[in-house]
Amino acid sequence: MEISEHTDADVFLEADRRHKEMRANGQTSLGVTKITQPPPMGEPKPKFAAVCSQCGGPTSVPFKPTPGWKILCTENGCYQKSKGGV
Ligand SMILES: [Zn+2]
Repeated sequence: MEISEHTDADVFLEADRRHKEMRANGQTSLGVTKITQPPPMGEPKPKFAAVCSQCGGPTSVPFKPTPGWKILCTENGCYQKSKGGV
């Protein structure tokens, strides 16, 4: 994979060099405007169907349910109750 690494570096340098040339010539480089976008907030996490071990109701958890693990739903407040009871 050494060749591809060198190729990538060469391409980058070539693009960088051309960019500077364009600026030197007073040209605007169309299509190379870098738009930095922040990662989308509230990205949906994968959910796994699970059964609450407290009330037996269906729920979903953001992790893969492990057999033997205690799953507490938030739908019926089992999770909140386990945290010290509201
Ligand atoms: Zn529950």
